[in-house]
Amino acid sequence: MDFLRPATWAEALAAKADRPEAVPIQGGTDMMVELNFDVRRPAALLDLNRVTELAGWSEEPDGRLRVGAGVTYARLIAELGDRLPGLAQASRTVGSPQIRNRGTVGGNLGAASPAGDSHPPLLAGDAVVEVESAARGVRMIPADDFYLGVKRSALEADELIRAFRMSPASGPQYFSKVGTRNAMVIAVCSFAIALRPGERRVGTGIGSAAPTPRRAVAAEEFLAAELDWEARLDPSVLGRFGELAAEAASPIDDVRGTADYRRHAIAVMARRTLTWAWNEFRSGHFERRAG
Ligand SMILES: Cc1cc2nc3c(=O)[nH]c(=O)nc-3n(C[C@H](O)[C@H](O)[C@H](O)COP(=O)(O)OP(=O)(O)OC[C@H]3O[C@@H](n4cnc5c(N)ncnc54)[C@H](O)[C@@H]3O)c2cc1C
Repeated sequence: MDFLRPATWAEALAAKADRPEAVPIQGGTDMMVELNFDVRRPAALLDLNRVTELAGWSEEPDGRLRVGAGVTYARLIAELGDRLPGLAQASRTVGSPQIRNRGTVGGNLGAASPAGDSHPPLLAGDAVVEVESAARGVRMIPADDFYLGVKRSALEADELIRAFRMSPASGPQYFSKVGTRNAMVIAVCSFAIALRPGERRVGTGIGSAAPTPRRAVAAEEFLAAELDWEARLDPSVLGRFGELAAEAASPIDDVRGTADYRRHAIAVMARRTLTWAWNEFRSGHFERRAG
């Protein structure tokens, strides 16, 4: 097995163009498991750890955050937890401190598992994935279009993930995950919510309850039409939101849970996260925290 070690982003893109079969490795928390268990035996590994361009984040002129694919969960929590609270909350549930010190959102996107914990908050927060190839340059792929199937994404063989872009939260964001125990667990299912009071809009993301992570579009449209932003949360609106979120899922029975349980849990988590977010919004706590 060849081990390619580019020192710069340009070298990494050139190496991927030259050897499209080379498998990128960042934190290695997915890749090393696959290698150790002989799930994959690629002809070449493309180690991205020396590529400093992937390791940072910045604020773009349009106000959005651009977070390099090599930024670890631990750094995301520590450095961006105030601006990306939903993604930070999801990041805190990933693995253990060791996994969060090595694992990255870029690697979660690269793996594109329906159970990856970063995906629901990326969807709820309208994130855009920045990918690049030497031949065709940069492509910006909305998270909504990124996930194509079980562990399949829109990434082409000669492309690498450079970063994701996401606006800092403009309202409360929450993430909820059901697992078979409290820590070090793959999600049975998960749900993320992002309130955007300025736009009178709510974003959602469902994890581990369909072949891909996905938004609950009908549930979002329902809230855009029915939510009275000046009033208390109407229990019937809350209940219908939960139902529509569950209907957006298409789960399977597997070792971690049944399809019926997952649908039920999605409805519960949708109601719960909306209630948390709504209470934070109505209390003015978010504005105080943000301002
Ligand atoms: C004990 C344990 C617990 C875990 N718990 C969780 C959990 O709770 N929640 C969760 O979501 N995940 C969990 N994981 C899985 C893993 O930690 C995450 O998916 C993590 O985000 C992977 O990031 P990484 O940088 O280590 O990726 P890597 O292992 O380096 O790569 C993962 C995949 O992404 C590709 N890739 C990496 N970087 C790029 C890039 N820049 N461009 C294109 N492709 C790229 C790789 O080729 C590979 O296919 C766990 C893993 C372990 C071993």
